[in-house]
Amino acid sequence: MWFDLHRHLEGSHSPRALLEVARTFDIRHPLFYDAAHGTFRAAGALAAELTMQAPCNDATVFYRCIVSARAAYVSVPAIRALALAAFREAAEDTDGFEMRLSLFSMARTLCENQGRAWRDVPPVAFAEDVARPVLCAALDARDEAQRLTGKPMRVRLGLSRTFESEPHYRALAAMVVEHAGALVGLDVLGIVTGADTEPLPPGLVGILDALRVHLPDLTIHAGEFAGHASVDRTLALQPRGIGHGVHALQSPATLERLAREGVTLEVCPTSNRLLIPTALRALEQAHGGATPLRALQQAHVHCILGSDDPTPMGTSFRAELDVARGAGVDMARLEADIARRWAELG
Ligand SMILES: [Zn+2]
Repeated sequence: MWFDLHRHLEGSHSPRALLEVARTFDIRHPLFYDAAHGTFRAAGALAAELTMQAPCNDATVFYRCIVSARAAYVSVPAIRALALAAFREAAEDTDGFEMRLSLFSMARTLCENQGRAWRDVPPVAFAEDVARPVLCAALDARDEAQRLTGKPMRVRLGLSRTFESEPHYRALAAMVVEHAGALVGLDVLGIVTGADTEPLPPGLVGILDALRVHLPDLTIHAGEFAGHASVDRTLALQPRGIGHGVHALQSPATLERLAREGVTLEVCPTSNRLLIPTALRALEQAHGGATPLRALQQAHVHCILGSDDPTPMGTSFRAELDVARGAGVDMARLEADIARRWAELG
């Protein structure tokens, strides 16, 4: 069974789904609506603005694509419709999947799109009146998509290391506890610029510790934009999975520890090719031309495959499988590692 175990909801809004939602909810944002002609735009025209056109070491180019799609987060029903479309499209692309939900950023965006400054919304009101309805809508959409397609779907709560407001994150985490049974675990993600591109703010770590009582399965994006030391630092938190983690290939000791502790690396080949082209080239050169997935397998590290953000990356899980096959990845071993990780999720 081919499960996509690293995929983000915010990066799974196809141009077709966005335009359908824009029409249904009459969202006349310039991204969707051509005011001069009084018509909604075509999906093809939208794709050029939502998808990266070429590899680029500057992750803000990718982030701009994500921000553009958020223009459709105008109400909870619109978010539910977008989530339902994303879950159904992911089901067509896979045998099942795990979807990551960046709840804070979705709730923050909803406030902004409704003309409210999110920082002016008190933390508990932000969690209860904005984030909870968004979470319930997404989970409800997941349940409906699962019923309609018969494909198994898991949802993981993503918390961003951008950590804009500790009180808002704390209130959101307290609310999430009541929904822990509908979630599969926690993820740390986020694009950060500056000296440390993969920080773990102490306040965020404290929130993770409290939440893990209810959601023990933790994954953390690391070793993507930063080197193997970031993976080493992350392992101290005892995650079950590391998003990307390809820079572990810089260090035999890190690889050995990943293999020994049975931590799964979530490898997303097209994402790496687009977001870290220079680093990827160096890693491949250092491993005799082998792609990270193949080199990690050779180092006995468990790896799964992910599409990451299919819309901005112009990919799909099926396309990632083809990329892996073409790169000489041991597909039987990959499938076994996917099954192993899926079983861990319960
Ligand atoms: Zn990711």
